[in-house]
Amino acid sequence: MRSRPLFAVFSCLIFLCAVFVAPAAFAQPPGPNEMPSVVQVPPEAQPSAHFDATAATDAYLAQIPPDKTARSNAYFEGGYWMILWDFLYGAVVALLLLNLRWSARMRDLSERVTRFKPVHTFVYWVQYLVLTSVLIFPLTVYENYFREHKYGLATQTFAPWLLDQLKGLGVALVIGGLLVVALFGIVRRLPRTWWIWGSVVTILFTILGVLIYPVYILPIFNKVTPLDNPKIVNPILSMARANGIPAQNVYTVDASRQSTRMSANVSGFANTMRITLNDNLIRRGSPEEIQAVMGHEMGHYVMNHIYKFIMFNLIETVLVFALLFWALGWSLQRWGETWQIRGVGDTAVLPLVVLMFSLWGFIANPIDNTMIRTQEKEADMFGLNAARQPDGFAQAAIHLGEYRKMDPGPIEEFIFFDHPSGRNRIFAAMRWKAENLNLFTTHEPTLSQTSEGSPASAATAPAMVDKK
Ligand SMILES: [Zn+2]
Repeated sequence: MRSRPLFAVFSCLIFLCAVFVAPAAFAQPPGPNEMPSVVQVPPEAQPSAHFDATAATDAYLAQIPPDKTARSNAYFEGGYWMILWDFLYGAVVALLLLNLRWSARMRDLSERVTRFKPVHTFVYWVQYLVLTSVLIFPLTVYENYFREHKYGLATQTFAPWLLDQLKGLGVALVIGGLLVVALFGIVRRLPRTWWIWGSVVTILFTILGVLIYPVYILPIFNKVTPLDNPKIVNPILSMARANGIPAQNVYTVDASRQSTRMSANVSGFANTMRITLNDNLIRRGSPEEIQAVMGHEMGHYVMNHIYKFIMFNLIETVLVFALLFWALGWSLQRWGETWQIRGVGDTAVLPLVVLMFSLWGFIANPIDNTMIRTQEKEADMFGLNAARQPDGFAQAAIHLGEYRKMDPGPIEEFIFFDHPSGRNRIFAAMRWKAENLNLFTTHEPTLSQTSEGSPASAATAPAMVDKK
C-alpha cells in the first residue's frame, strides 16, 4: 500500500507528541517573568539642572532585578538559535518530501482527483500543508507552546492552544490556497515572465492581507471590542486628532487569552484603519505609558510606514522571484528527474520553492530586521514628540523587556533586533527629556497663573502615576 509509510510517520508523530505533551500538561506552569512596573521616576531621571541622559538611562535599567534580566536574555538569545533550527528543520522536511518523492505522489494523487488545473493545485496544497504541518509539529509545539510557557509568556493550556493552531491551519488553507492557485496559474501561462507577475500577485496578496487582517482574520482568534473607558479613549483620540489621524474609535483585543505580551497597533488603511490596544497594555500600563505607546503607533500611521514597507517588500519580492526563476531552472535540470518533477509549472515543485524562500528569509533576516528597526526608531521619535511622555516611554521599554534583551551589543542589535533595544529606547527618551526639561519643571502657581494656565504637559508629565 502506497500510503503506508506516510501513515506510519503520522502515527509515530502523534504518539511522540502525546508522550511529549502529557507530563507537562500536569506540571505547574512557571510564573510570568513580569518586569517591574515603575511607580516612581528614579532620582537620576527627575528633572534637574544637572540632568544627564546616560545616568537617567542607567538608573531606569538598574530597576530591573538581575534574575528578570537573565531570564529575558535567555529567552531572547534562545530565539537566535530558533531561527537556525527553524530553517534547518524546514529544509530537512522539504528535502524529505522531494527525495522520498512524496511531493510527486501528492501531485499524482491530486491528478487522479481532477485534471482541472486550479482544483488540482488546490488539492495538492491541502495535502502539502497538512503533511508539513504534521512533520513540523514537534518543533511548533516546543517553540510556540512549551518554550513560551517556560518563560512565562504564554497563558493558554494545551487544548485551546491546539485549537488556535488548527484555526491558523484553516486560514493558511484558504488564503495560502488562493495564492498558490494564482501563482501556478501564472507560471503555466507565462513561462518566461512569471517571476515578474508572480511577485506582483504576491504583493497584491500582502496588501489584501493587511487590509482584511484586523477586520476578518484577527476576530477568528480573539475578541475585538470597542474600548469605552473615556479615561483611556479620550486622550488617545485627542492625540489622534492633533496628528491628523481620522480615527473615530479605539478598540481593544483580548490578547491575554494567549500571551502576557503588551502591544498596540494602528492597523489597516482607508476604511479599515483603526487603533487597537491589547488588554495586557490596558491592565498593566500606566496612563503615561499608554500615551507613550500610542504616540509611537500613531508615528507609524503618520509616516506612512505601511506603504513604505509594502514598497520595500515589492522590491525584495521581485528580487527573490528573479533569483527563484534562475535557481529553480538550475536545480530542476540537476535533480528534476530524481524528484519526478516535470517542470516549474508542476505543483510537485512546491517544497523546493518553499525551501528557497526560507533560505532567502534566513540570509536576509538582518536586512529585514534593519528595515523594520529603522521604522520603529522613527516611530519612537515621533511618539516622544507627540505624547511627551519620556518616562512613560521608558516604562514601556522595560515592560517590553520581558521578551526582548534590554542591553545587547551593537552587532547583535543590528542582526537580531526588529525594534531598537530597550537601552537605546530608554536613552532616546531620556535624551528627549534632557532637551525638553522646561516641560517637566513644576511651576508654583502665581496670582497671574492659575492651574489651568500652566503648561498642559507639566501637570501630568513629571511623575508616573501609581496604577496599582
Ligand atoms: Zn512600532
